[in-house]
Amino acid sequence: MTYPKLSLYIDGEFIHGGDRPTQDILNPATGQVIAQLPHATPQDLDRALAAAARAFEAWKKSSPIERSKVLRKVSELARARAQDIGRGITLDQGKPLAESVGEVMFCAEHAEWHAEECRRIYGRVIPARHPAVRQTVLREPVGVVAAFSPWNFPFNQAIRKAAAAVGAGCSVILKGPEDAPSAVQAIAQLFHDAGLPKGVLNVVWGVPSEVSTHLIESPVVRKITFTGSTAVGKMLAAKASSLMKRSTMELGGHAPVIVCDDADVDAAVALMVGFKFRNAGQVCISPTRFYIQEGVYDRFVADFVAKTRALKVGNGLAEGTQMGPLAQARRVGAVAGFVDDARERGASILVGGAPIPGVGNFFAPTVVADLPDQARLLHEEPFGPVAGMIRFKTIDEALQRANALPYGLASYVFTRSNHNAHVLSTGLASGMVSVNHLGLALAETPFGGINDSGMGSEGGSETFDGYLNTKFITQLNG
Ligand code: NAD
Repeated sequence: MTYPKLSLYIDGEFIHGGDRPTQDILNPATGQVIAQLPHATPQDLDRALAAAARAFEAWKKSSPIERSKVLRKVSELARARAQDIGRGITLDQGKPLAESVGEVMFCAEHAEWHAEECRRIYGRVIPARHPAVRQTVLREPVGVVAAFSPWNFPFNQAIRKAAAAVGAGCSVILKGPEDAPSAVQAIAQLFHDAGLPKGVLNVVWGVPSEVSTHLIESPVVRKITFTGSTAVGKMLAAKASSLMKRSTMELGGHAPVIVCDDADVDAAVALMVGFKFRNAGQVCISPTRFYIQEGVYDRFVADFVAKTRALKVGNGLAEGTQMGPLAQARRVGAVAGFVDDARERGASILVGGAPIPGVGNFFAPTVVADLPDQARLLHEEPFGPVAGMIRFKTIDEALQRANALPYGLASYVFTRSNHNAHVLSTGLASGMVSVNHLGLALAETPFGGINDSGMGSEGGSETFDGYLNTKFITQLNG
């Protein structure tokens, strides 16, 4: 089975070996060790900082056309290598091969979108109060970026950050996910082969808290971008802001789905079962709390359970697998904790409800109903293949319950009524709302949350906002 050789990527060089500590990389479907990941030493991190600082001085002056060419080439190469990169993702992260390859093909577009948008980083001219004065606003790259990307969409989350930083004219040190490193390894190779000057992108691995502390505390780093849990995001954002550094935070969610009596129930079930169990539910915008209006509750839940029961769970490399293992053994215990808590509090487990015995981190796709308000599943992000069903009577009630948590990332609504669609989409406290279809996370649309789900957007025309400073120049022409 081919799996890439893992290395650090610093100042244009792929580095491994020496007396660096290494970490076992496991296949979550089999528990077998498939590779060794070298961790960066403090000297490696300092070398990456120095390289990024040096590279920034030249890259900030590069023309948008030059940046655009590199990013376009990255997208072309990513598509050409999607099968290999996807296989690596299935081997270290576990998701079905079609999802892994799809992630690479779909997210090659992020590089393309940033290639297009970076040519449109416009400033403006502000009419002055005196004819001899010219007032201009420039948007300049912030400097060296420290980026931290997670393991659930290892290609997607990392390429968005790298493309935004590179497109804006920043240099970047990317710490990828140690649990599932092959996609970020591939991204380093893509940028290298696309001709990115050395030092503009650097990739490091290590103990997350040690690497992030080292990088964030360095005076070289001017911006932090992180995707991961709310708890870690709050810690990193606090550290960044204490040093007056910018940050973009894409954090956890607990997405409500509101299905009204007037919805197309068949379409809603078909879309939501696929979306709920995609990537074994390890998705920040995964639908987790299903609020179903009483007139369609029984039908929705019965159909949802039947379709869930029919899902084929297995090794992501096996033909026909629809859901793979959880990415790490620790996730199995975490997900079981949510289900056991619900069961102990009197909830009904309609399907699934336990780990699947045997090798690998498999957990059965699970649907839970009759959840008491105190159930952890209704408050904390489950980040796994578990759906909670809740009956509601009025739209106001659904809105109030959906908005009751501090999270605010994604929400979903199914209704045929324009009125309900309007009331719900404007009333939901979340960064993104998808009504009657699945339309989130496209390259050209902003992706991001509010409240405990983070701050800042990735994608869309907002994508460079977090990577640019605003400079005002006023000049008197004598
Ligand atoms: P975790 O909180 O330990 O780690 C989450 C991510 O943050 C990982 O990628 C990890 O490498 C990184 N991380 C952890 N501590 C860090 C630090 N001090 N500095 C820099 N990076 C750090 O949890 P986990 O067990 O890996 O994942 C489970 C939880 O993480 C889930 O419950 C989910 O809420 C969250 N998560 C969210 C996303 C997302 O897309 N928003 C992605 C992955 C994980």
